[in-house]
Amino acid sequence: MRGETFLQSLNDGRTVWLDGKKVDHLPEHPAFKGTLQTIKSLFDMLDDPDQRDDVGYWVPERGRYAHASFLVPHTPEQLAKRSRSFSRWSAETNGMMSRLSDYARSLVTGWYAARDELSKLDPHFAHKISAYYEQARDRDLFLTTAIIDPQIDRSRNLDDERIAERFLHVVRETEEGIVIRGAKMIATGAPYTHDFVLSSFLQFKPQDRKHAHVLIVPANSKGLHIVCRESFAQPKELNHPLSAKYDEMDAVLFFDDVLVPWERVLLYGDPQKVLALRANKTANSLAFHQNVVRYVAKLEFVTGIAFAVAESIGTTGFLHIQEKLGELLTQIEIMKALVIAAETEAKPDESGVLVPALSYIETARNIGTRFYPRAIEILQQVGAGGFVQVPSSVEDFYGPISELMHRYYEGATVSAEKKVQLFKLAWDLFGSPLGARHQLYERFYAGDPVRGYANLYNAFDKERLTEPIWNLLKETSRGGLTIT
Ligand SMILES: Cc1cc2nc3c(=O)[nH]c(=O)nc-3n(C[C@H](O)[C@H](O)[C@H](O)COP(=O)(O)OP(=O)(O)OC[C@H]3O[C@@H](n4cnc5c(N)ncnc54)[C@H](O)[C@@H]3O)c2cc1C
Repeated sequence: MRGETFLQSLNDGRTVWLDGKKVDHLPEHPAFKGTLQTIKSLFDMLDDPDQRDDVGYWVPERGRYAHASFLVPHTPEQLAKRSRSFSRWSAETNGMMSRLSDYARSLVTGWYAARDELSKLDPHFAHKISAYYEQARDRDLFLTTAIIDPQIDRSRNLDDERIAERFLHVVRETEEGIVIRGAKMIATGAPYTHDFVLSSFLQFKPQDRKHAHVLIVPANSKGLHIVCRESFAQPKELNHPLSAKYDEMDAVLFFDDVLVPWERVLLYGDPQKVLALRANKTANSLAFHQNVVRYVAKLEFVTGIAFAVAESIGTTGFLHIQEKLGELLTQIEIMKALVIAAETEAKPDESGVLVPALSYIETARNIGTRFYPRAIEILQQVGAGGFVQVPSSVEDFYGPISELMHRYYEGATVSAEKKVQLFKLAWDLFGSPLGARHQLYERFYAGDPVRGYANLYNAFDKERLTEPIWNLLKETSRGGLTIT
């Protein structure tokens, strides 16, 4: 089964740091065990005859199933298959795991799909991306992205030597490849990824050639340190149902003179070309599509919990609770509508790849940064103090005060035990360290929301909206019209 192969593949000499120690056996480590078991079960779906068509597609030339994030869509059915696969993995994890590799795989698939067009940037691009795409697809590689540079001093740019030294850059070229040094700020899933897709959001200047690159770097590269944040994983699923299974670890990456072989150097040395690759619509659209499909699952999960909480304490009849629950439904419908619009208005690119409409996807990614904090605010308003009235452990239901527990934690419509479990689930969603991380994640995973919204404005054909306004307004003083 591929899940087991995935777990075993992680014992590959990678350098993962947690709590000041190097982690040697990730699958057995308490910080990663629960999460890796979740990923294992998702990978196994591709070997299950009853589920593999939901998440994968048949690759005839290889005689095996591959995950649908690798499927290049040319027809609406193929696009729907990609969407269904994102939706299935998201439903399995309640939208709580967003970097299950299907996002970064989609980026690679998009570059592969647009390789002819992108060959204009570099004649070797098509060959390199084709070889890598096939390898990633056929070996079920887990991928993640690391784009953001370290948060040292955002008022400075690469003209500042201190910044230039610390941001990821090339220190020398060799016959085998390039040697890179510097750091990348956050890579979710980093400790258990196979490869990192590295690029940058920097607005490069022509002289920034050492910092301008798009690379694919194996996690076990010599000199690469994966520095984890504090673990939010919890051992007991009954008390922490989400933290026990879904702690997607975030990490900072230190590249201490890492050799990247030429075949993994997709672009290097030409800032304009790197910017052009970053702006490639086919890849961005296929990858961001995953983000938005996953987001629907997350909103449905929050809404389901809010409904259940309201039912459990008998507040569903109150007008303001109904209004708030209705708002949550509105969020879901808006997000779903944007997914449907992006898929139904998908258009073929230059190579005939059916690309979801990016404007709807960008809209969903932007508005999502505001929906999630509001959804959590509503959940808190619905459950109020109930979230901190729960006992420290559900084990109290089996101890000496069991009878009292059953009596006083009772809900309007549910047993005391179920009610406590429900409120613990909700607390894990927003009050635990994992929950706090999720609020930060939904605000920032798609980049800085301030600049995200501003980009929408900047890229928009503004005249389309302003021209009718200017036409409506007459200069009466010059046109001889009488003001009545
Ligand atoms: C939980 C989590 C997981 C993540 N996982 C990944 C991942 O897997 N891969 C990945 O590549 N990235 C990941 N990210 C990083 C994410 O892309 C960034 O957080 C996001 O792009 C914002 O960048 P920043 O955090 O560096 O904030 P900064 O850019 O440092 O911004 C800090 C504040 O300053 C303001 N600011 C900074 N510069 C400017 C400017 N020039 N103009 C106007 N305002 C400015 C911002 O608006 C913001 O309010 C993750 C982030 C989080 C929180």
